Amino acid sequence: MEVTIVGAGLVGCLLACYLSRRGHEVTLYERRPDPRTAGADRGRSINLAISERGIDALRRLGLAEEVLAEALPMPGRMMHATDGALTFQPYSADGSHAINSISRAALNRKLLDAADAHPNVTARFGHRLAGIGNGTLEFETDGGPVTEKGQQVVIGADGAYSAVRARLQALQGTDFSQEYLDYGYKELTIPPKLGEFAFDPGALHIWPRGRSMMIALPNPDKSFTCTLFWPHEALARLDTPEQVRAHFTQEYPDAAEVMPHLASDYARNPVGHLVTMRCDPWHGEVGGTLIGLVGDAAHAIVPFYGQGANCGFQDCVELDRCLEETGDDFAGALELFQRRKADTDVIARLALDNFVEMRDKVGSRVFLAQKRIEHALERMLPGRYVSRYELVSFTTTPYAEVERRIARQRRWAGAAAAALLIAGAVTWKKSR
Ligand code: FAD
Repeated sequence: MEVTIVGAGLVGCLLACYLSRRGHEVTLYERRPDPRTAGADRGRSINLAISERGIDALRRLGLAEEVLAEALPMPGRMMHATDGALTFQPYSADGSHAINSISRAALNRKLLDAADAHPNVTARFGHRLAGIGNGTLEFETDGGPVTEKGQQVVIGADGAYSAVRARLQALQGTDFSQEYLDYGYKELTIPPKLGEFAFDPGALHIWPRGRSMMIALPNPDKSFTCTLFWPHEALARLDTPEQVRAHFTQEYPDAAEVMPHLASDYARNPVGHLVTMRCDPWHGEVGGTLIGLVGDAAHAIVPFYGQGANCGFQDCVELDRCLEETGDDFAGALELFQRRKADTDVIARLALDNFVEMRDKVGSRVFLAQKRIEHALERMLPGRYVSRYELVSFTTTPYAEVERRIARQRRWAGAAAAALLIAGAVTWKKSR
């Protein structure tokens, strides 16, 4: 089958690999120039955390080892208090699991190379999809508008502001919603300090400050990329270098000390928006062309669980499975793929909830005590009690199943705690 994928970002490239492996002829259209020759595009984040769902999708294509070779493992969170105190909190009970910091641009280049290595994949850069007609695709290019004959199947992997989804939204019966946070994000850099990492590279660093926070992920060049997640009005409030320095010295003193370009980075770097997009269904038909959506185009989520790309990669595994189940009948497969919406709805909600946890709760003693109890339960009941974070980040269990399992574990832990209390009360009574 001839398939068009719109968007050669992380998910579009990976999907091209999966579809070409099944023998389909894939044309990838990307609005940007080829990032392998045009250099890095300062897109949405400089680095991101890849965990088991993403790794599993890469592993199935034999790409995981190569990708992870350039990643930095982060086995836990390091919380920075305003007085400079550091608290490390491992992600798993025995510290054996890590999420992996990786450069978005390097990952995209690797996936493009992997897609290009398939003879049945053609990539066309500098083509921005502007419309889908009856059997045609309209693009804007540097040379002006171009109309191409549409293929039988068009998959939108063109991100949160998807042009393919816009066409689908115009069909009767398609539901769509977008929900912006009143927070924005801004990236800053902590360069190497005397040639070394300024902080421990084996952690995701968090400066939780109640209503706002800063995080930092390590890069292979020994720098850190920091991301501020602040209310929009707070981001707009600081407009002189002196205000920026003073604010950081007060709120993030240990970081401010190792950020020599803080004020200029702050003034220069743009503010990004944080949005959750929901669309239902993810497929439809326009003039005989089947349309489907994957990745952020289908379900953009906020980044606080580090799952957007991981979830998009898992979409590729699931769509591949649906094609297998339907004998590569795309109409049937896209319909079947809709079952994944129950999972993506769950991770969209968890990602929003995790913002409160990261910016507010992680610094509190109660939260740290809860995590210690959770890890103790995990050690006492290995494989039977597993935290939500572990299930989301270190397994491929469907997200909706994670929530069902957490509910079962809670019921069970509540019943066990009640039984222990009753047993304690009976023993106490007998001993009197
Ligand atoms: P995109 O990466 O947006 O790629 C879409 C591609 O389509 C782009 O190449 C774009 O140029 C192209 N395109 C767009 N429109 C058109 C058009 N009309 N015609 C042709 N081409 C088009 N996820 C994680 O898993 N872990 C993290 O730690 C993490 N951190 C994040 C931090 C931040 C600050 C943000 C904002 C996001 C983070 N994410 C993270 C989410 C992750 O970036 C996205 O989920 C992921 O990039 C989605 O991939 P995608 O290929 O679906 O979309």
